[in-house]
Amino acid sequence: MNLIIFGPPGAGKGTQSSFLVESKKMFQLSTGDLLREELKSKSKLSEKLKIIMDSGKLVSNDIINNLIEKKIANPLINNNIIFDGFPRNIDQAKSLDKMLSKYQQKISLVLNLKVDNFILVKRISGRVSCSVCKKPFNKFFDPPGDPSECTTKACINRELIKRSDDNESTVSSRLKTYEESTLPLLKYYDSLNVVRNVDAMKSINQVTKQIIDIINDI
Ligand SMILES: [Zn+2]
Repeated sequence: MNLIIFGPPGAGKGTQSSFLVESKKMFQLSTGDLLREELKSKSKLSEKLKIIMDSGKLVSNDIINNLIEKKIANPLINNNIIFDGFPRNIDQAKSLDKMLSKYQQKISLVLNLKVDNFILVKRISGRVSCSVCKKPFNKFFDPPGDPSECTTKACINRELIKRSDDNESTVSSRLKTYEESTLPLLKYYDSLNVVRNVDAMKSINQVTKQIIDIINDI
């Protein structure tokens, strides 16, 4: 079964995808990973890609589609793919459908991870990590506490590091961009009757359980 996972930043998409990769031996396909893998491969395409990416230009749809088709055609992983971060628009969704049907496959499921925006803003804007051991905390949900209770003795001198783009206003605008680009895609897949909503406000384990139930139901 091929599936797509949608979820705003902070919804736990990465955690849930990793779970499916481990437990169901699924292949997680993200275009960023595909491009990095191709660059390392020393293929003819990799030389072309290096020039495009070094110049800061966007990689064309044709090249992306080509890399994705190689994965879809690969008998070791085909029909067992999690599409993550792709498709990003209706055109890409339609060309993905075409590619899949060429190999007698389809998208059977679109998991839509749903979280209220105010929770996401807190999840992301509250993120900090220990400068010594890198342990992640959240000021709202998992406060860092006393440095002496961190991972190592050296943590006593820790600073709490915050990513510069993890602040409330950039998070809100990232969420707005996500909603605007995802809504048309959800409508498209809804018309194909494959969208299932997941309540991603629950704990990680409870979210995983919902996903397993949905997959077993298909
Ligand atoms: Zn630490």
